[in-house]
Amino acid sequence: MAKRTVRDFDVAGKRALVRVDFNVPLKDGRVDDDTRIRSSLPTIMYLREQGCRVILMSHLGRPKDASDPALVLDPVAMRLGQLLEAPVRKLSELMGPGVEAAVASMKPGDVVLLENSRFDPREKKNDPTLVYELARFGDIYVNDAFSAAHRAHATTAGLATVLPAMAGFQMAREVAALEALVADPKRPFVVVLGGSKVSDKIRVIDRFLDLADRLLIGGAMSLAFLKAQGLSVGASKVEEEGLPYAKEAMKKAVQSKCALVLPTDIVAADGLVEDAAAWVVGADAIPEGWMGLDIGPATAKRYAGIIATAGEVFWNGPMGVFELAPFAEGTKVVAEAMAACPGVTVVGGGDSVAAVNRFGLASRMDHVSLGGGASLAYIEGADLPGVATLPDREEA
Ligand code: ADP
Ligand code: MG
Repeated sequence: MAKRTVRDFDVAGKRALVRVDFNVPLKDGRVDDDTRIRSSLPTIMYLREQGCRVILMSHLGRPKDASDPALVLDPVAMRLGQLLEAPVRKLSELMGPGVEAAVASMKPGDVVLLENSRFDPREKKNDPTLVYELARFGDIYVNDAFSAAHRAHATTAGLATVLPAMAGFQMAREVAALEALVADPKRPFVVVLGGSKVSDKIRVIDRFLDLADRLLIGGAMSLAFLKAQGLSVGASKVEEEGLPYAKEAMKKAVQSKCALVLPTDIVAADGLVEDAAAWVVGADAIPEGWMGLDIGPATAKRYAGIIATAGEVFWNGPMGVFELAPFAEGTKVVAEAMAACPGVTVVGGGDSVAAVNRFGLASRMDHVSLGGGASLAYIEGADLPGVATLPDREEA
């Protein structure tokens, strides 16, 4: 069911405590990829237009102790200010008298960014004392951090239980896209799964064997399936713990109406380097000592053909080691097929989204989920604390 959003509540003039996910990659003290910051601009701009005082909270990285100079949010505030073309006041604390004074002096439309929420050990424990200290700064709580919604932390879940809570636009978009995908996918529903490990995604595979019409497998994951069938995969990176899962999935697929589709040819190379000797071989003919690093051209073409006729496609996980040009082709063919597909197209996963961005195809997808782990957890059917704590639109 759709969540109550900032548009469904009288937010005008309120102090809005807004959880965003500004956990962005940094390089030389600057933001290296601002996709996540941009994704929350519509919510921040809307609240400013409504005369809210906007108090932003985010985590950044995994700080080991109470403060880590490399993980302060100053570079993020700088980039946000540039994107908003408005001053963003970065505070050096998450709570306390300094924050209290800063918030008290805010004017409608002002934006403040609190310090890295994970500097406070109570954040990850969803400690009520932190929740109440933070709640004093806001009249309403807005969650726009879908990608952190699988965590039950003070700023992602706790605050929603003590203040009038609602979703930001990015959160609402992610939930709507994934909800439609699992509840009522357009048929035929094609799922493309790749990436590194079967064990990471076994519950997702399981869910899609119930839900999808075709499940196309690529990436290192496909090599685990080939190996589980008894084929030799040479020196390919295959996760041993994944093999029983792959066997189970193949067994389930026999009874399922969903077809599980595996590569029939593979790009094999004698090393994981750009200038390795590379060869297209049959999926049952990877030479001893060589590794499978991409799906082969016949497989890529077949997958593209299946995607072309899909009513809906969900893709997670690259088809090969796309970071190296000689092994990027399978991923690129799949991305291009999705871009051209007239059906609904959804891409999720850190590396898959990076690949789509690199190919310049992100704007041609219907939805690019920045959710990563949260998206997969949602698809598995897990109750995400950051979503579950927000009231539904009707109920609000
Ligand atoms: P996502 O972040 O989209 O969920 P994953 O993290 O599961 O994807 O997997 C991405 C990684 O898998 C990439 O770094 C890619 O290089 C790697 N990968 C894909 N295919 C292979 C392969 N055949 N051998 C080794 N690594 C692979
Ligand atoms: Mg990844």
